[in-house]
Order: sequence, then structure tokens, then C-alpha cells
Amino acid sequence: MRKKIIAGNWKMNKTVAEAKSLVDGIKLELGDSTKVDVVVCPPYTAISAASEQVEGSQIAVGAQNMHFEASGAYTGEVSAEMLREQYVRYVILGHSERRQYFAESDESVNKKTIAALAAGLIPIVCVGETLEERDAGQIEDVITTQINEGLKGLDADQLKKVVIAYEPVWAIGTGRTATPEQAQEVHALIRGLLVKLSDEGTAGAVRIQYGGSMKPANAAELLAQPDIDGGLIGGAALDASSFIEIVKAAANS
Ligand code: PEP
Repeated sequence: MRKKIIAGNWKMNKTVAEAKSLVDGIKLELGDSTKVDVVVCPPYTAISAASEQVEGSQIAVGAQNMHFEASGAYTGEVSAEMLREQYVRYVILGHSERRQYFAESDESVNKKTIAALAAGLIPIVCVGETLEERDAGQIEDVITTQINEGLKGLDADQLKKVVIAYEPVWAIGTGRTATPEQAQEVHALIRGLLVKLSDEGTAGAVRIQYGGSMKPANAAELLAQPDIDGGLIGGAALDASSFIEIVKAAANS
């Protein structure tokens, strides 16, 4: 059985004070439940505060990006080690906003994934097609390239640690969610690709999250699908009650 994982991608939202208050709210409502892995991914500036605030709870802290080099002349970047020093355990890599606005490529996602694993971070590797690609019947090609290139060179032990987030770009922040069937179809495709990259046992251990306008109203039916192992949540993660509702849906699925 794969343990469900719900991660909140706060994007460029929340000051330090707001982050502390949001973590407090989640912590209060979560109690000591350990049925689901719960992750919050604040902006860099609030990571240290979030790490302090999650102490004594089951909540883990993640980052939204990192550089693949350990150090050096990369203005504006942070490394895996720097994140580790702030008690970060997860890192989102290849989010569609990074691919779209910051020229993130499958090659850089691959380098970052390898660097994150080497530093002991759990990468959340994002893949997903645009609406144009879906309409052109290119879902399989797009996802296959992103998975094969993004996870290139990983052995079975490394693959098992990776979390994948399937996020159809047309569903992110749009209020338009993939139907459970549409999502399950791509999740099954991803699991099939993982079998080819490794073996059935390894592919069966990898957690694949769905992301794209997941909210309390639609979380349960998405999380009931056999290959949907959690959610990467944007908008609904900015409010403690909505986020917790989704965590509860995962715990009951
Ligand atoms: C995201 O950015 O990862 C995301 C899924 O956003 P939203 O839930 O707002 O669609």
C-alpha cells in the first residue's frame, strides 16, 4: 500500500507572519494523525519559520525549487544542502510555472532530481500536458518524454523515493479539474512508464500525486482512483481548513 501524500504549493504567497499562522492552523486541525504524509512548501523566505513552526507535528516542509549545483556563482539560486540545513525534506521540481516562465527543461529537472536525492531530499517531480497538447492528441508523447528524461539514470532505489505529480497545465489555477477518469488514465500511463524504467515492484511503490484545482469538493473522487496517491495543491493550500479537508479526504480514501 502506498501512503497518500498531500503537499501544499504556496507559490509566491505568504509572508513569514502569514506562513507561521497558516502552519499553526494546519497543525491544530491535523492533530497527531499519521495516516497521510502532509507537506507544506512555502516560498524560500518563510522556510525557516515554517520549519520551526512544524516542530512537534507530522507536517514536513518542502521547497518549490532548487539549483542542481552544490554552490557557486548562481545569483538568486539555492542548493539542496542549503534547504537541508533549514530542515527541508521535499522539493518540488519542474513545476509547469517554472517550465513556462523560467525555462525549466527536462534536462535541468533531471539534474535537480539527482542532486536532490544525493542530498537526502525527496523530489516531487511535476509533469503534465498543456491544453494544446491534449487537444492535439499528444498526451502520451509529452508525458513519456517528461518522465523518461526527467528520471533518466535513476536506479530502482532512487526511483522509489521520488514522488511524481501529474499536473495537467490547463487545470492549474484555472478552477478546471481533470475528471477522475482523465486523471487516472494518465496516472496509469505514468505507472506503466515507470515499469519500463525499472520493474513492477519499483513502479508500484512510487507515489503519483494529482495536481490541478484539487479542492475539498473534488478531492475524494480523485483520491479514490487506484493510481492517484495524493495531491499537489495550489490555491486550496493557502487556507488551513480547505487544506485539511483534502488531507482528511486522503485519509479516508
Ligand atoms: C499547483 O500549482 O501545483 C496547483 C495544483 O495549483 P492549483 O491547485 O491552484 O490548481
